[in-house]
This record gives sequence, C-alpha cells and structure tokens, in this order.
Amino acid sequence: MSIVKRQQIETKWYLPAILAGMGLTFKKLLKNLIAPRGMQTLNYPEEKYNYGPRFKGNHVLTVKKDGSLRCTACMLCATNCPAQCIRIIAAEHEDPLVEKYPINYEIDILRCIFCGFCEEACPVDAIRMGPEWQTPALNGGRFNYDISYLAYRANLKGGIQSKVDDQERHRAGI
Ligand code: SF4
Ligand code: SF4
Repeated sequence: MSIVKRQQIETKWYLPAILAGMGLTFKKLLKNLIAPRGMQTLNYPEEKYNYGPRFKGNHVLTVKKDGSLRCTACMLCATNCPAQCIRIIAAEHEDPLVEKYPINYEIDILRCIFCGFCEEACPVDAIRMGPEWQTPALNGGRFNYDISYLAYRANLKGGIQSKVDDQERHRAGI
C-alpha cells in the first residue's frame, strides 16, 4: 500500500513564505538603520571581539626563568601536527640536564588549522596557543613565525613563563 501525502497549501504556494521572509529582513534593516548601536555585528576593524582566555589563537613558545626557551626539541608537536606546518632543527644543549634545544623553530601559520594538537602533545608546556587572533601582514614571509616571534614578540614583554617548574619536570623524568 502506498500513501500519497497531499501538499499543504503553504508549501504549494511558496510566495507568501518568501514575502514573509523579505518582510522580516526589511524590518531588521530599518531597525539597524534607525538604531545601529543595537546591531548584533561588530564594525571590524574599529570594533574588536575579545575572546576568552582559553581561545586557541596565535602560538607562544614559553620561556624558563632565565628567559631561554623551554622547548627541548622533542619533535612531539611537529609529529602530531596534522598540517605538518612545524619545522624544528635540534641541537645538543651545553647543560647536561637539558638534552636538546631548538636552534630553529618555525610555524607556517598559513598552513596551521589552529587545532591545538601541538599544545596538547607538548610534555613540558613549551608551546601554548593564546588569545591573539589577528594575523594581518602585507609580506608573505611574515606568516612564517620563527623563535624571535613565537617567544619574544613585543606584546609578550620578554616571554611567557611556563607554570611547570624545571625541578618538577626532572622529578617526573621529562
Ligand atoms: S595548531 Fe594544529 S595545525 Fe597549527 S601548528 Fe599546532 S598542531 Fe599544527
Ligand atoms: S612538543 Fe614541546 S618540547 Fe617538544 S618540540 Fe614541541 S614545543 Fe618543543
């Protein structure tokens, strides 16, 4: 047995629904023209949205108390990065307690998908994603973030210190 459903008059004659939709749009347009302060949108770039502290924006390489990089060049972030946009060159550290350190650490931010896997993979809290989200630049080379940008850019004011203490790390064997 087959059931044939009859179309409702509202769906058969779609013009009233279109007119109702256009009426709503026109009403909103008039409201926004008369009282623009009540609009739900921001006039970017004059007005900027402040995301919460947990927002995963631009990357930061954290530093130790002496200002040196916390990163031990273990490559876990680069291995976990699905966009393969992290490049690290490791070197031996003169301090016997630190096995390796990066002499070069770069993120190609145009390939990054801001997934946060690098931050999750890092065992020593050496990379974080902060609340910055604007990445404008006129020069393509500016989108290749190097150590000087990732760890010491001007707005970081000398670098962000990790909460994980070196002694805690050594006790935990990492
Ligand atoms: S946020 Fe994701 S895509 Fe971007 S560098 Fe980290 S792991 Fe790679
Ligand atoms: S996972 Fe952390 S310590 Fe390892 S290379 Fe990446 S940032 Fe450095």
